[in-house]
Amino acid sequence: MTQIGTVSKIEELLTAMGVEWTKGKMICPKCGEKKLTASTTKNVAKCWGCEQVWYPGKEQTGRVSWASVILADVVTWAQGYLPRSRPCLTYLRRRLTDYLGAAWFIEHHLGARNMGYDVRPAAARAKEIWQAAYDQALMAAKSKKDRADVDDEFERQKGYLERFVEEKLKPLCSDGFWQEALVFILTNAHGQPLSIKIRQYGEEKPGKHVKFIYTLQPLPGRGGVFDFSPYFSGVWQGRVSTLVLEGEFNWLQLQAQAERWG
Ligand SMILES: [Zn+2]
Repeated sequence: MTQIGTVSKIEELLTAMGVEWTKGKMICPKCGEKKLTASTTKNVAKCWGCEQVWYPGKEQTGRVSWASVILADVVTWAQGYLPRSRPCLTYLRRRLTDYLGAAWFIEHHLGARNMGYDVRPAAARAKEIWQAAYDQALMAAKSKKDRADVDDEFERQKGYLERFVEEKLKPLCSDGFWQEALVFILTNAHGQPLSIKIRQYGEEKPGKHVKFIYTLQPLPGRGGVFDFSPYFSGVWQGRVSTLVLEGEFNWLQLQAQAERWG
């Protein structure tokens, strides 16, 4: 259970929860259906699938539990390897500035993909957390209908978890194509990882705009942003939505220049 902090606008709240903000229907962070609509004038959002309502100030629970556990494990793996990945360090210094070292890259939510990651312990822990949350939700359910809703929702979540492990994590670990690829960790406004982008810059050809990106996003509709809090702290907390998600390197270059020249 995650408390979503003090934001005053519905757009900020949804963005902090990792919802990709658009004018039309968005993907609901609770049920995963593309049935979430928001009104900026009424400052409220509602999912027409599961009927969950969100508004700033209401106590919020973000469904990041099993998903954050499994992503945190991937982050530890990728960031543990980065200082030893000569190709990644060389590439990053060339793209940014050779003034920077591994510690700076790690602080800026980068990592490197290495062989030999064992998915099973994190998958088992994630399953335990899913089960505990399920039990808790069943105990809190007040009616037969509530319990049926809880069953539906947790079955859906279990599907996400199993597909994520089998169809996304395992192939990434076994496919040599992604060796020494760069790992970009995207978080919500509170620094919790929501998704990961793996980019095989080694296969990119000069003059060709083809990028090789592998996305790990356990919960649909939860992209995330780079966590800028180490440098911009509270000032930027309410402005998450102004960041452009596709510009990882633009953002890093800006940060690197600020670091170098102040
Ligand atoms: Zn919903």
